[in-house]
Amino acid sequence: MRKNIVAGNWKMNLKRDEGLDLVNDVINLLPSDNKVEVVFAPSFIHLYKVNKMCLNLDRINVACQNISKEERGAFTGEVSAEMIRSINVEYAIIGHSERREYFKETNEDLKQKVDVSLDNNLEVIFCCGESLDQREEEVHFNWLKSQVSESLFHLSSDDFRKIIIAYEPIWAIGTGVTASSDQAEEIHKFIREIIAQKYGDELANNISILYGGSCKPTNARDIFSKDNIDGGLIGGASLNAESFVEIIKSF
Ligand code: PEP
Repeated sequence: MRKNIVAGNWKMNLKRDEGLDLVNDVINLLPSDNKVEVVFAPSFIHLYKVNKMCLNLDRINVACQNISKEERGAFTGEVSAEMIRSINVEYAIIGHSERREYFKETNEDLKQKVDVSLDNNLEVIFCCGESLDQREEEVHFNWLKSQVSESLFHLSSDDFRKIIIAYEPIWAIGTGVTASSDQAEEIHKFIREIIAQKYGDELANNISILYGGSCKPTNARDIFSKDNIDGGLIGGASLNAESFVEIIKSF
């Protein structure tokens, strides 16, 4: 179901107490009539505790930042979807550009991660995005289409409904440079169109598509005002309770 979501990707930041304080502060600062789904994505080691803090709270959920593509077994250092689900975490972020770039995750790897997540009843926040070179060479539409289609278009319609897409232009992540709201809207509309071509308008109109890339309190309202933008995946600004809540309040 299409909904407004603001997810905070903590990446490899925050020690235990810092993370728990942040969650507490965000919960306390959220308006009582909050309608936005809020998602915290801490590192694996904090997931259990953060999830416990959020368990009975309306519209506050937790995501892991990555997941093993394997079901289980001799894969030292990996964390499986069934482990994540066994502590009641609801979401898995898959295909973040940092995973693609530094850990060489391919569209095929991500397809497997998507499958293993859905098999274990995790909702997937699937990231895609182009580099600056690709945008300048005007190959970004094709690139995005291949990222989305190669990792997701094998899914049945029922499974595709459990996917949330996060469009995150690599040139905007952690750089302070944000895509303009028009640039972001153009891509969100394009992503919705390719989903419609494959799965039909009804399904495409029911998918949440988030924007990520230097989203902050000062630009969130403009970005979220666009028709095809349903929220944000927030990195740096999610590490501070006030700025994260300001972004959430931008709807
Ligand atoms: C991210 O890492 O998903 C992200 C959007 O980071 P930032 O907001 O810091 O650009």
